[in-house]
Amino acid sequence: MKCDVCGNYPIIDVSVIRNEDGGRLNACYDCIDRITNQNVSIWFKTFRKKRENIMENRKYIDGLSSVLAAYERKELPFKISSEDVEKLRKMYVQMCNCLNPGTKQKQLAECYISYSVEILRGNKKD
Ligand SMILES: [Zn+2]
Repeated sequence: MKCDVCGNYPIIDVSVIRNEDGGRLNACYDCIDRITNQNVSIWFKTFRKKRENIMENRKYIDGLSSVLAAYERKELPFKISSEDVEKLRKMYVQMCNCLNPGTKQKQLAECYISYSVEILRGNKKD
């Protein structure tokens, strides 16, 4: 997309500014920063990164939400220590706030998620 301000063609870092009549102006991040004299483009980048994090962590978010919900209803078909529940809860909240979990957190979550999925599959077969 072309930047209407400097005339360059940055591939993704272009924001479209619209007016009420449907007129539009494309401005690249460099120009937005230059015009506003502030590092405004970092706001968009942070927003995009956060959205990417949510998408990347989707399977953990979905998995943990069902594990934790089952725990609340006391329907978990396996034992889980309250310490681990706290860890999983913390990780869940963290991910809902668009933050990435650490490797250890992922391993812990994966272990419980796959465990619960296996058991659910096993139950269905019966
Ligand atoms: Zn520009």
